[in-house]
Amino acid sequence: MRPQEPERVATRPVATVAELMNPRSVAVIGASEDQTKFGGRLLRMLIRHGYGGTIYPINPGRETLFGLRAYPSIAATPEAPDMVVMALPQPKVKAEIEAAAARGARGGIIVTAKFSDAGAEGAALEREIVLAARAHAMRLIGPNCLGVISPANHVVLCSSPALDVDTLPVGSIGLVSQSGALMATIFDRALDVNVGFSHCVSVGNQADLELCDFVEYLIDDERTNVICTYIEGLKAPRRFAALAHRAREAGKPWLAVKAGRTEAGSRAAYSHTASIAGSHAVLASVCRDENVTLLDDTGAMITLAAAIARHPGGRARRVAVLTTSGGGGALAADALEARGLEMARFAPETAGKLAQVYSPGQGGNPIDFGGRKFEEAINVGSVSARIVAADPDTDALLFVLTTAPMLGLLADDIAGGLLDENGHETKASFFVMQPGGAADGARDALRARGFPFTNHVGEAVDALAAWASRGRFEPRSVATRPAGLAPPAAAPRGTFDEAASKALIASCGVPVNASSTVASADAAVAAAEAIGYPVVLKIVSPDIVHKSDAGGVVTGLGDATSVRAAYDRIVAAARTAVPAARIDGVSVQATARGPLELIVGARRDPQFGPIVVFGAGGVLVELLPARAIATAPLAADDARRLLRELPVWPVLAGFRGRALALEAVVDAIVRVSWLAHDLRDADFELDVNPLIVDEHGCCAVDARLRAQDAR
Ligand code: ADP
Ligand code: MG
Repeated sequence: MRPQEPERVATRPVATVAELMNPRSVAVIGASEDQTKFGGRLLRMLIRHGYGGTIYPINPGRETLFGLRAYPSIAATPEAPDMVVMALPQPKVKAEIEAAAARGARGGIIVTAKFSDAGAEGAALEREIVLAARAHAMRLIGPNCLGVISPANHVVLCSSPALDVDTLPVGSIGLVSQSGALMATIFDRALDVNVGFSHCVSVGNQADLELCDFVEYLIDDERTNVICTYIEGLKAPRRFAALAHRAREAGKPWLAVKAGRTEAGSRAAYSHTASIAGSHAVLASVCRDENVTLLDDTGAMITLAAAIARHPGGRARRVAVLTTSGGGGALAADALEARGLEMARFAPETAGKLAQVYSPGQGGNPIDFGGRKFEEAINVGSVSARIVAADPDTDALLFVLTTAPMLGLLADDIAGGLLDENGHETKASFFVMQPGGAADGARDALRARGFPFTNHVGEAVDALAAWASRGRFEPRSVATRPAGLAPPAAAPRGTFDEAASKALIASCGVPVNASSTVASADAAVAAAEAIGYPVVLKIVSPDIVHKSDAGGVVTGLGDATSVRAAYDRIVAAARTAVPAARIDGVSVQATARGPLELIVGARRDPQFGPIVVFGAGGVLVELLPARAIATAPLAADDARRLLRELPVWPVLAGFRGRALALEAVVDAIVRVSWLAHDLRDADFELDVNPLIVDEHGCCAVDARLRAQDAR
């Protein structure tokens, strides 16, 4: 997919993101030597970190700044600068962008905030600024951002104090962050734990260039091996999904931390589907489908990125823990197992070698260095590391270092043991430096050896778990429309009651139970006789969506007397629960039996389009909240695979030898997913709840659909 390019008005080609990330010249508006000012810090950082292009400091009051010739205005520069950076007061930004665009600048970074981040007025001004830039084919980063840090290009267009260091390590991790402060913080913390970047960009309000533009750049950038993103809201969700696919095809791991997980279900729900498949859950499913790894915090993201960058082909299923403390090792092992990771079981030759170093009964995973045989064996770290790194049944090593004497020597020794004769790390290893200042010597030792580390076990465990789950990725299959399944003839619109909703899903081939709507107790008995006892009676009212909440469902009616009594009871209960309700009658239904009730739902997600959701239903809907979500349509293979990951799977698979009709369930899910696909032009919510499952098949006994033209 191509980046969304602005209309070309000028004849000059629009700059590519690659050109903007490596500008040949930079004008700094408000440049200064004053380090309390943005323009002062930015100019100094740019010079300090070895920018190779031409700098045009703009300051009408100065001849020179830091020995560079200054210019009174952007109009006075001897050439059109590739890039212009500014942190002016908000009301001055538009005029300056107009001037820069008129001068022919190809790109601009607006650090200033209070645009679309601060309401409608700011948003309107932001749009005007974008139009002013586009009129001259100028592109914008921001506003409300902290700019660009590109160690790989020696381009620092950022004033963060995190940059106040002698050298910026160049790594192969690319970072795109919607938050400027987080970009700078991540960068700073990463420096601390010896992790470097190829490029970091903060995209702010994304008025013009947005997150995906930079992710695309990073996918194509040869110096970037891993992509990290901090996301708040997506400007172009479909493009995000397409890029995730491209990144995967290109073999570039993409990791993401997404804010706003808890938004789901806040609006009053007509359907359970809408409350369980909120926008974060849908985004998570899109990420799962393309192996974009979602993490909860940026520390774990950087820890994982650093490991993958060092070991692109590595994996983390089976982990060995090596530690200076039995307690630290045990806690780490617990945390690993709780996250579904396996403690490595060493191969016999590995165990044999460890037995020469460790006392009997010691030397198993987790390995406590304290269990060594010889007091004088101070190189126990390198010896153990070398043996375990060579173990064929270990994927990754986790070193948990606690407060101990000579920790610096130990860390240096371990690091040495992990390197081969060419100085390459032989197997992925994670160092956790648990102590406070007492481990600073050890941290320095690791930095000197070029190893990253983290100060928190949780970050390492999260990173390992996420890496292991990357390794379990399976791509989705292409969905094929079930034979004979046609899209609904007329586009369904409106609110459909149970009978109408069931008629629609039945027309799609989803089994439903027999039912008939009646308006008197006599008619109810007649219907029950025709359907066969036992029957279920339900209230039919457009004003009662959740029927059992209004006392409107009675099951297990075995004869005429109980049907008659139930009829009067549910009509009375409905009148009490919702006095103003219009009551259209009572539905008499065949009873479906089965040990499992599922929900199969669908809706149109405003960002990603039609989705299907399924999991435990009926009374379990709130109790077993884990649900599978996937964009529709869904292939049978994938429906089966997602079912296997649900907590209800054991029930379906034949817990106590009673295997239920899996294929019927898969077929129902696939058919609902195609209905969702066919309804994609509508804003819709569909609940099939419950779908009752037994050994022989499944049957929908309740459904509700609401659909309107998409806005
Ligand atoms: P609502 O969801 O509007 O409260 P349902 O029609 O789903 O009403 O009925 C509530 C519960 O009653 C279902 O979850 C199911 O356990 C049971 N039930 C409803 N209809 C049937 C039926 N035909 N056969 C068996 N059980 C039923
Ligand atoms: Mg229901």
